Amino acid sequence: MKEIVPAPPAIVRNDIAAIKGLFDKNVIPSYGRFEITLSHGAGSYVWDVTNKRYLDFGGGIAVSALGHAHPEMTEALVEQSRKLIHTSNLYFHEPQGRLAESIVNHMGCGKVFFCNSGGEANEGLFKLARKFGHDEGRFEILTAFNSFHGRTLAGISATGQDKVKKGFEPLVPGFRHVPYNDLDAVRNAISPATVAVLIEGVQGEGGITAATPEYLLGLRKLCDEKKMLLLMDSVQDGHFRTGRFQAFQRIFENVPGGEKFMPDGVSMAKALGAGFPIGAFWAREPYCNLLTAGSHGSTYGGNPLGCAVGNKIFQVIQRDKLADNVRELGDFLKNEMLRLATKYPTVIKTARGLGFLIGLELVDKIPAFAQSDKTHAVQFVNRLHDAGMLAVPSGTHVIRILPPFNLRKGEAEEGLRIIESIAAQIA
Ligand SMILES: *Cc1c(COP(=O)(O)O)cnc(C)c1O
Repeated sequence: MKEIVPAPPAIVRNDIAAIKGLFDKNVIPSYGRFEITLSHGAGSYVWDVTNKRYLDFGGGIAVSALGHAHPEMTEALVEQSRKLIHTSNLYFHEPQGRLAESIVNHMGCGKVFFCNSGGEANEGLFKLARKFGHDEGRFEILTAFNSFHGRTLAGISATGQDKVKKGFEPLVPGFRHVPYNDLDAVRNAISPATVAVLIEGVQGEGGITAATPEYLLGLRKLCDEKKMLLLMDSVQDGHFRTGRFQAFQRIFENVPGGEKFMPDGVSMAKALGAGFPIGAFWAREPYCNLLTAGSHGSTYGGNPLGCAVGNKIFQVIQRDKLADNVRELGDFLKNEMLRLATKYPTVIKTARGLGFLIGLELVDKIPAFAQSDKTHAVQFVNRLHDAGMLAVPSGTHVIRILPPFNLRKGEAEEGLRIIESIAAQIA
């Protein structure tokens, strides 16, 4: 595939080298980056500085819900920036109130706190849980193995993966991990200090694993019995990513008793701002009144600019019925990938996920990948890049497919053709 793309002209090669040089010299090297230097985007596509086009099925890690350079998002940003970008939370303003109202309308009764990222949203949930248990001396939060809850110190302590913790010990006390989708494991792990359980509806970084309805219903019952909060990290799977506002709503479709399920707190970010950095957590009555004046805050959180964008995104998703699009094309993509798994059984093991949170799992050992010390997922993604498509590795063998919610059928088919071409090349 590489030969198809002509070598960039010298002047552009120098651009790439110059930009990379700026990073090497000045940016803390905490990321493993792909050798791609992006320049601009439109809709479902992005272009690099050599003008090579990529179909963006990575969405900046499940963020870009409306694709790139959506004109109405731009307009919302420009219009609000002419009025008021920032106020702090010393004052009231309409965009924050409106965005909170939309979230509450979609969740059920409760209230919202705004911050700037997913990690911060989870910090809010941790503080909520600690406040809830404080007078009884309860503080411990149970989370799942293979979870991901952010890169703050409490976030890595909550995350059930050793690789994010290594080198940063001592961790924040009060987090313990249990196997996911295993209700007995949670029941057995509860101590007198346990105050909450935090899980993802679909584990995003952990290989796209969805919670079962029985697990969620069991956790709800257990948390009620033990007076514990049931918290959900919906940073990646929330905000219509699965074709419903919340992943648990999709999981409970056609499940008797499922419509009554409600967690006590939910963290949000990623698609909420669709690229503008904003995070939030919702808490249900009466827990939403635990964090009283002065107990929690953020200077930027819920600023007029971010909330104006958030309001626009809600509006566009609703008006254009994008949740339906996510369901229809999500099912189409997953079924076609399952077909590819049957057609190329030496390359693709299976596909799973909900809506536009799809995991394509590769077989354990692909001979063509044996030479390199890079993971199978990274090697496959590198080939997708060469062929003009972005996607995101998840773990060592899963490729995450995270298209924008306004994806067109033809673009879905184009993505499948690219995936198939790589599978055929490797098989
Ligand atoms: C991305 C993510 C986070 C962290 O969000 P940041 O905005 O990077 O802080 C937390 N939890 C989950 C499930 C995520 O996918």
